[in-house]
Amino acid sequence: MDIICPLCNGLSELSEHCPQCGEKLEDGGQVEGYYNPYFPYEDDLLVPAPNAVENPQQWCRHLVYCRKCKWQGTWSVAQRKGP
Ligand SMILES: [Zn+2]
Ligand SMILES: [Zn+2]
Repeated sequence: MDIICPLCNGLSELSEHCPQCGEKLEDGGQVEGYYNPYFPYEDDLLVPAPNAVENPQQWCRHLVYCRKCKWQGTWSVAQRKGP
């Protein structure tokens, strides 16, 4: 049984909203690493759970952005057991 990210696998949708304007956030895809120069991270503004840091293998980090006001950040998605 594999541990998969429900967002990457299309099993669930991002249901978070922009902290600035309240618009629904768009999923910008999985974050490949922490050193991508194109996306300056907002210092874990959206990380929902403290244990995301302790158990990084159980979380899939996604880039999220707002179409309306161009806000962007990252969202850690809890992974779950696959089908
Ligand atoms: Zn993912
Ligand atoms: Zn916004």
